[in-house]
Amino acid sequence: MHRHDVVVVGAGLAGQRAALAAVEAGRDVAIVSKLHPLRSHSGAAQGGINAAVGAEDSVDTHIYDTVKGSDYLGDQDAIEFFCREAGPTVVEMEHFGTIFSRGSDGNLARRPFGGQGFPRTIYAADRTGLALLQALYERLGTESFTLYEEWDLTRIVVQDRRVQGIVAFDRRHGDFAGIAAKSVVVATGPAGRIYGRTTNAHSCTGDGIAAAYHAGAQLKDMEFVQFHPTALLESGILITEGARGEGGILKNVGGERFMSRYAPHVLDLASRDVVSRAIWTEVKEGRGFPGGYVHLELMHLGRERIESRLQEICDFCRNFAGVDPVTEPIPIMPGQHYMMGGIGTNIRGETNIAGLFAAGEAACVSIHGANRLGGNSLLETLVFGKQAGNAAAAYSDRAAPTDISEEVVEGESRAVHAMTDRKEGEEPQHLRTEMQATMDELVGIYRQPQELLEAQRRIGALKLRFASVRVVDRSSVYNINLTDALETGHMIDLAEVIVAGAIARTESRGAHARVDFPKRDDANWMKHTLARFTPDGPELSYAPVAFTRWEPKERVY
Ligand SMILES: Cc1cc2nc3c(=O)[nH]c(=O)nc-3n(C[C@H](O)[C@H](O)[C@H](O)COP(=O)(O)OP(=O)(O)OC[C@H]3O[C@@H](n4cnc5c(N)ncnc54)[C@H](O)[C@@H]3O)c2cc1C
Repeated sequence: MHRHDVVVVGAGLAGQRAALAAVEAGRDVAIVSKLHPLRSHSGAAQGGINAAVGAEDSVDTHIYDTVKGSDYLGDQDAIEFFCREAGPTVVEMEHFGTIFSRGSDGNLARRPFGGQGFPRTIYAADRTGLALLQALYERLGTESFTLYEEWDLTRIVVQDRRVQGIVAFDRRHGDFAGIAAKSVVVATGPAGRIYGRTTNAHSCTGDGIAAAYHAGAQLKDMEFVQFHPTALLESGILITEGARGEGGILKNVGGERFMSRYAPHVLDLASRDVVSRAIWTEVKEGRGFPGGYVHLELMHLGRERIESRLQEICDFCRNFAGVDPVTEPIPIMPGQHYMMGGIGTNIRGETNIAGLFAAGEAACVSIHGANRLGGNSLLETLVFGKQAGNAAAAYSDRAAPTDISEEVVEGESRAVHAMTDRKEGEEPQHLRTEMQATMDELVGIYRQPQELLEAQRRIGALKLRFASVRVVDRSSVYNINLTDALETGHMIDLAEVIVAGAIARTESRGAHARVDFPKRDDANWMKHTLARFTPDGPELSYAPVAFTRWEPKERVY
């Protein structure tokens, strides 16, 4: 049995920032991560991080753009706090050693991003996430804390309505262990692998969201799934919005800059939901290239600019699509990119369970509402990671000691042995592939009621089949077959919540576009969806949206 004041699960930007805050508050802190911290998906972030630091820009404009981008579903009190913290957060990361790109005047360089009134996305070429992650890791490395590396959270233990700690699976030794903690911060990141066509890393399987859901935490707004307009055609690798920020343009098979018909004012830099729907419509209406895609053109920007500002994009295009963006257009289609929903929290990162906190992409504060603006997520990990770390430290300071019984740990171990002991049954990867195909096909950019019901039926059937899943590999060292099975179970549960929320929400808002209800319906649906686990499936309820200064208006770009 291990024991700490604060256990942070996840070592991406949100987890590391939470851990740093808790360590600075003098607590005994542990980080549990299934990956080496620097392999977290935060390191894949390309385009940049938002802060209204330019002379022509203002915090209020950043707030307004975020509220509008959220299609008025974001909580305005949280958004105001978030945007005010942006400048100090970026400066702090600079002081931690992040080497941001600079303009010719020596100031932090900024590029325009979608749905934003001013260029406010600060970047380190097209490797911003890695630059931030490395700097934060070095800063955290000067502090004292315990790292459980290549350990998978499988269960959050809650008794008497408060957190006791977690149970985790040690990949290297094949054992389960209990880690008692007064506070647990879930910062396990994205869940994009619920979809087949996604920009997310293979590790982005929503484990922490699923564990919190099973422990009784409320999930918020899970039906809002962001599709990034520009993912490379076959691999789904992200081509950053920074490519359009630098001046890249989208064209259909007729050579037309089609965004002029969908967003006449800001064209290719409309918000992501708008651009993804436009690309989808062009292809569906026969104006895509054979095989179903459109072009992103950078050629007119010139070699020097493309190769210096978009280095990694050049590598991706050359290595994974066989095209050179300096001389040829890039074939792209939208792909799943981000989950606006997650574990419901308030501004301090507190959930509905005492001692349980969440931050980063696994959480939903909510600042992104129905659609996230590019560059706001890296910022969210740092702003709300710190908030959650501070709140977890304060809570652990006044909380009584906690405990995890041997019985609870053995229960986890028994469930896994049931999978490895089975002589018959389906292998997890088949269920995972079917789930991904279902979500790609039926729960995508545009949603039809019949298709959603069919998705619900298929996911329900997968859930039943998962109950008798078989793990063929019985080894106890780095058993990927087993961790695959655990992750697949988590994703099936979350897919069920996404679909239930999407069926219930009979309106179109942000990334949730219902063909049978094409308009936003503020009278009935200006509210957050909450989902609570029950053995019979998610139980939905609703919560009000917080308003401060911005009245809902029609969203035009
Ligand atoms: C390709 C790509 C590019 C992006 N570009 C940008 C951008 O330019 N700007 C922007 O603002 N946003 C961008 N985003 C979004 C943003 O990067 C993410 O939302 C954010 O980095 C998530 O950070 P996180 O700390 O919440 O999660 P992650 O960085 O994903 O970290 C999750 C951590 O949780 C751990 N973990 C997961 N499951 C378990 C488990 N069961 N047990 C133990 N540990 C676990 C992992 O090991 C990892 O350390 C991008 C996303 C992608 C996919």
